[in-house]
Amino acid sequence: MPPIQAKVEGRGNGIKTAIPNLSEVARALGRPPSYLIKYFGFELGAQTSINESTDRYLVNGVHDQPKLQDSLDGFINKFVLCGSCKNPETVIIITKDGNLIRDCKACGQRTSIDPRSKLATYIEKNPPESAKGSGKKKKSATASANVVGGGMSISDIASGNKKTTEPKEDEGENSDDDALTRKINAEASALPTAQPIDDDDWAVDVSEEAVRKRALELEALNLENGGDSAFDQFGEWLLEFGEDKDELPNDVEIYKKALELEIHEDVNTVQVLAQTLFDEEIVQQIAQHKGLLTKIITTPKHEKAFLGGLERFLGKDKPELLSQISKILLQVYENDIVDEETIKDWGSKVSKKYVSKEISKKVKKAAKPFIEWLNQADEESSDEESD
Ligand SMILES: [Zn+2]
Repeated sequence: MPPIQAKVEGRGNGIKTAIPNLSEVARALGRPPSYLIKYFGFELGAQTSINESTDRYLVNGVHDQPKLQDSLDGFINKFVLCGSCKNPETVIIITKDGNLIRDCKACGQRTSIDPRSKLATYIEKNPPESAKGSGKKKKSATASANVVGGGMSISDIASGNKKTTEPKEDEGENSDDDALTRKINAEASALPTAQPIDDDDWAVDVSEEAVRKRALELEALNLENGGDSAFDQFGEWLLEFGEDKDELPNDVEIYKKALELEIHEDVNTVQVLAQTLFDEEIVQQIAQHKGLLTKIITTPKHEKAFLGGLERFLGKDKPELLSQISKILLQVYENDIVDEETIKDWGSKVSKKYVSKEISKKVKKAAKPFIEWLNQADEESSDEESD
């Protein structure tokens, strides 16, 4: 495992410590990066910010490398190493009674994790894939597996292991599938690049295929030029205000920044905004940013980019907010940010443009009631017209 890196950035109240290789360290430990950065936050009593799309992990305030390394050692002791043989080849599982356990692949012992730590509470709410019972077991991510380059996929790590345990569509197990899901599945399988996308395809290896897919993933935030594009600068600038979105500059300031970077008309800017403007308060925040969004979203292409950015934000960054997707889309619709037809079109298609097919499917499924409502409202009004 590489030593943790620390880079102090900014000054004054905005001073913070970036950890450039956090995801690399987390991967070597077989744990999602979110666990590690949250742990630092709890241990150091500081706010943290996570952006998996840009691979940016920040802890507010100044924390030198030895302090972070110390904290990392604590994390490894409590959440990685087997309590019995001290081997790192463990996965975290959650027992039926809700206890966190380190399940050791080396000696077979199961040792408990102190439930009183704040990170334990966080893990319970954001369980790793290995903690979920599933009929068909996926490859478990263990430290050794990751060292040799197999095991946990980048998208797993990035999404904090929020994979669904739903059966795959090809397996004929979706007896309770509804019409929309069937339609989505049918359309998804008809996509031009229709080879089945399993999240494991993202495993950390250097095969041509994997490299190509990771490049695709990065492209979604336009990082193909190595992370120095104006969009990255814009995204990073927005993220610098920390996790609390109340502290973001006002819409005029944000627009000015886009203008300064000369990206105020670009569709990618819209996507960056969809992934950086919101947090748990997204339902309220959409209306709050109506001015900026309607100013910048000017064509159907922009509208699609906004929905794509939301898909990524909800599907990958904040899957816990997926349950609110109807309310979110209603705000997008009622504030005239995206046209009804674009929303309907988006809702009826699974696309790999912004997220993996699996995630896109999950998002579209969650959006289904709202799309149906839109369609229904349409039918009703056309009924009235024909009377
Ligand atoms: Zn052991």
